[in-house]
Amino acid sequence: MEYLDETLVAQLPKLTPYILDWYDRSARVLPWRSTPTPYRVWISEIMLQQTRVEAVIGYFERFLAALPDVPSLAAASEETLMKLWEGLGYYSRARNLQKAAKIIMQDYDGQLPADFDALCALPGIGEYTAGAISSIAFGLAKPAVDGNVLRVLARILASGADITSPKVKKEFTAAVQGMIARDRPGDFTQSLMELGATVCLPNGAPLCLGCPVAHECRAFRQGRAIDLPVKPEKKARKLEQRTVLVIRCQEKLFVQQRPNTGLLAGLWEYVNLPGHYTLPQLTADLVKRGLTGNFIHLKPSKHIFTHIEWQMQGWLLNLDGDPPSPGETGRWVTKKELLEQYTLPTAFKAYTNVIKNDL
Ligand code: SF4
Repeated sequence: MEYLDETLVAQLPKLTPYILDWYDRSARVLPWRSTPTPYRVWISEIMLQQTRVEAVIGYFERFLAALPDVPSLAAASEETLMKLWEGLGYYSRARNLQKAAKIIMQDYDGQLPADFDALCALPGIGEYTAGAISSIAFGLAKPAVDGNVLRVLARILASGADITSPKVKKEFTAAVQGMIARDRPGDFTQSLMELGATVCLPNGAPLCLGCPVAHECRAFRQGRAIDLPVKPEKKARKLEQRTVLVIRCQEKLFVQQRPNTGLLAGLWEYVNLPGHYTLPQLTADLVKRGLTGNFIHLKPSKHIFTHIEWQMQGWLLNLDGDPPSPGETGRWVTKKELLEQYTLPTAFKAYTNVIKNDL
């Protein structure tokens, strides 16, 4: 091994019984754990990417009630799928779920394949998710290494290696492979994830005194737990100013569909202009289009994506006369339709709330 100390890595398997004992006593009761079928494990793992457990539980239960199996997911309409995902963010995850479901219908008779490589070949399933499904749902001795697991291992080994490096991750993955309990691979995967999620917490706050492996943890012994793991500094987010117009005309509201690629691809939005517009600028633009109406300033709002932050100024525009042509990507819809049938990203939540509560 180039980055990890092989002698220390060789000691890791002896920690497995401690972690499993702790898991048996302390595991949280989560809906996907009660019946870990391949489909339920798959859906839960995809939902849990970039999203907190507490936020996922309600979505998971609604999703499973509406689309309980691979055939129903493959056959779901785009609107149903997006509505079930609305608010979870990273919508490409939902689209990939459906693409994968269609492949599973075609190539695997509607059953997820019990094979790590075949799982990895499906859209949206990377090595981590394939490892989680393989071990939890199929009982295969495959490692699932995500940020939680890397953090726990980096601390136990007091490793200063950069955990975002693929080469380093590969060595940690080999280390986890050696720790898997052959008789309980699924529980082992979940126990390590659970330890990272509830005890060996990120951002400098590990609860070492309640940790089942504190006696073997080098970072704890050396008082370095809060300094590990090492990650390179993140690039600063790009700030973008936007002007959001909620346009209303004769009790109809205007929404438009975003392009099929890029940020929030294919989702619906209000008019969303780059830059911050002043009231005279907005009024002049309206006159230029031969329209009249009045603007009401709404509260500013911001939304943070992974690499971009939108700083939004909002306006409600009450248009006079009949609704003008919505154009190719736009639609005039009722409030009920907008709230029940259209998927508007959380980025616009402040403005959707205005519609919900005030219009
Ligand atoms: S002792 Fe502390 S730092 Fe070490 S694994 Fe446990 S919680 Fe993490």
